[in-house]
Amino acid sequence: RAKNDSRGSFSFFEPGMDARAQARRKIETELRTALRNEVLRPYYQPLVELSSGRISGCEALVRWPHPDRGMISPAEFIPVAEDTGLINAIGAQVLRQACLDASRWPGDIRVAVNLSPLQFRVGNLMATVMDALKYAGLPPHRLEIEITETLLLEKSSQVIATLHALRALGVRISMDDFGTGYSSLSYLRSFPFDKIKIDQSFVRDLCNNREAQAIVRAIISLGMGLGVTITAEGVETEAELSWLRAEGCHEAQGFLFSAARPNEEIKGLLDLQQSAVPDQQFAAARVA
Ligand code: C2E
Ligand code: MG
Ligand code: MG
Ligand code: MG
Repeated sequence: RAKNDSRGSFSFFEPGMDARAQARRKIETELRTALRNEVLRPYYQPLVELSSGRISGCEALVRWPHPDRGMISPAEFIPVAEDTGLINAIGAQVLRQACLDASRWPGDIRVAVNLSPLQFRVGNLMATVMDALKYAGLPPHRLEIEITETLLLEKSSQVIATLHALRALGVRISMDDFGTGYSSLSYLRSFPFDKIKIDQSFVRDLCNNREAQAIVRAIISLGMGLGVTITAEGVETEAELSWLRAEGCHEAQGFLFSAARPNEEIKGLLDLQQSAVPDQQFAAARVA
């Protein structure tokens, strides 16, 4: 609705903004229904340990099967969930389901779950995590929490305390999309974490871009110095994989191995790996 005819250039843009706001409102309404009906569910993408070729864990990536629009990407609805506060309920639901699914996977395979910075602000995150672990009967060391650098920007003592409490419980902390945030390295000293995930934008350029190579090398050496695991995200080619392995990267994740898949498929893959002899494990991980 046009506010004022005297601000002609503003009203020119308003119909478009209205349409966008309406689309968002529609997503919000549908998201509430999806949450209530528990139709959101995690898919899982394997994390492959490069020294052994073994799948050491899987990342839970939430999916929204929409009645008219097919599968909606989290990139589209997580921001809406964050704006509306729905992220807390969605996050708790994904966490519970991910812990339950992982509790039925063989061996010591871990599950990694993404948490929004907003989930750290509500104050009951520890209870949510402990509830999920207890509900699923999953040992805490099999859960990994993925956070992004934006969380650390706040330099909040409550956030630091929560991260310490999670770790004291045995939960591992991963720094997701590393290198894309406001990279002040000083937070690496005050925040406890166990893993750095190199953002896929660096990996994508790896094979023909010296700058990307220099950055990835620096992140690997930083991670090694800090004694944390280094994982490369978005690995799509053999060339990227061999470059990363030669540089000492510990773990990789990407379409080269597998995209995120429904739990039934992932569980089948993990059971297969469990029964395979060691030198067939890498082949089992590579199924795309
Ligand atoms: P992320 O945590 O960095 O997850 C990695 C994203 O990269 C996933 O996208 C994954 O499907 C995609 N990916 C993996 N391998 C490749 C590859 O080889 N090439 C390319 N081009 N892409 C690859 P997805 O599933 O669309 O998720 C996007 C983002 O949404 C995630 O980025 C994460 O930040 C967020 N997200 C997903 N699930 C959740 C959730 O349960 N809670 C929260 N708070 N955020 C979530
Ligand atoms: Mg992630
Ligand atoms: Mg990432
Ligand atoms: Mg991301």
